[in-house]
Amino acid sequence: MLNLVLFGPPGSGKGTQSEKLIDKYKLVHLSTGDILRGEIAAQTPLGIEAKKKMEKGELVSDEIVIGMISNKLDNNTSAKGFIFDGFPRTTAQAQALDNLLTQKGTSITVMLSLDVEKQELVNRLLNRGKDSGRADDQDLSVIENRIAVYNRETAIVQDYYKAQGKLKDIQGVGSIDEIFDRLCRAIG
Ligand code: ADP
Repeated sequence: MLNLVLFGPPGSGKGTQSEKLIDKYKLVHLSTGDILRGEIAAQTPLGIEAKKKMEKGELVSDEIVIGMISNKLDNNTSAKGFIFDGFPRTTAQAQALDNLLTQKGTSITVMLSLDVEKQELVNRLLNRGKDSGRADDQDLSVIENRIAVYNRETAIVQDYYKAQGKLKDIQGVGSIDEIFDRLCRAIG
């Protein structure tokens, strides 16, 4: 199986590049942000709980997101591989993911980490907020908090994969196709 972790701060292009990677490598896309927004739209108890955190740009609890990923893995037993987008966001999530994949006889192939400087992230998110309708993309203080939470709680997850020799840093500025080429070369 080809199991990719697409990593990087909010606005680094994970969603855009995921679509292209899924198309090329025929992977199942697991975006915890998308799954959570689906739960909110369906007004499930989980969605109602998660919404409070997401509105502030804080992380949803590890327990909730790990449970969601576990369900999705169980429901996609014939997948050729997965692309994890927006997950894992804490070291506890990374450890849980390793355990879940080990139980299924597979593992993460590589973490692709998109590098984009802060001002560019803020510009992209504010732009996306204009047509996405995402409330967390329309409020500068929420955007700043998401980037701060990334730096404080999530960036360190790279070290977890680096220790396994699986981290690849990708320059995340350039055209969408240029960045896609860099990702494909890193996958090999
Ligand atoms: P972005 O990468 O632009 O922040 P996402 O759609 O990945 O967008 O995430 C939106 C929000 O959903 C996050 O700010 C966070 O509140 C929540 N979220 C998504 N994935 C996770 C996760 N793995 N762990 C905790 N919270 C998450």
